[in-house]
Amino acid sequence: MNKTGVKTLKDPSSITALVNKHNKFPDKYTPNDLVYPDVPFVFGSEKVERSMLRKEAAQHLETMFAEAEKENIHLSGVSAFRSYETQIAIFDGYVQQDGKAALTYSALPGTSEHQSGLAIDISNAAGEFAAEQGFETTAEGKWLAANSYKYGYILRFPDGKEAITGYEYESWHFRYIGVDLAKKVFDSNLTYEEYADKHPEGILQ
Ligand SMILES: [Zn+2]
Repeated sequence: MNKTGVKTLKDPSSITALVNKHNKFPDKYTPNDLVYPDVPFVFGSEKVERSMLRKEAAQHLETMFAEAEKENIHLSGVSAFRSYETQIAIFDGYVQQDGKAALTYSALPGTSEHQSGLAIDISNAAGEFAAEQGFETTAEGKWLAANSYKYGYILRFPDGKEAITGYEYESWHFRYIGVDLAKKVFDSNLTYEEYADKHPEGILQ
């Protein structure tokens, strides 16, 4: 750990690694197994950086979207992978706009889960409340909160846990950690930070 209390991940490609403001990626880390999941995105079908996920996360996302469809739940991706370079550009923009307040909703470059290729912001087919407060009131938001763990995804920034996760409630942001672990975290009713404190093996590096 350095003077600012930020640790750099030793094994950044671990599916289960805790990534947050205190546990960051090595600079310029990019996963080597990014693919384009075959699911709809709110911005259309163009193959761009933000429509990529790591292979295992992509396969489970496709299954989740397909199973949701069977229940008349129409999911749509908003933003998935985000490179270190893109994160720098986004963060600088927010800081120019909001100053220090940007830290409450935007990750410092290297600390965003989106750099893992294992995180995705999800909306509904109409793109309502795309990555915005209110998504939790939609049928899709409710379905995801109740079911995403079955496909290995956890709701990473729950309501009322800002002091622990370091982020405001994000009902649209999901992180893939594998099906077995996602069920354990869901059943524990803990944030990933709290779960990691109790079960650090394979999660804290
Ligand atoms: Zn997100």
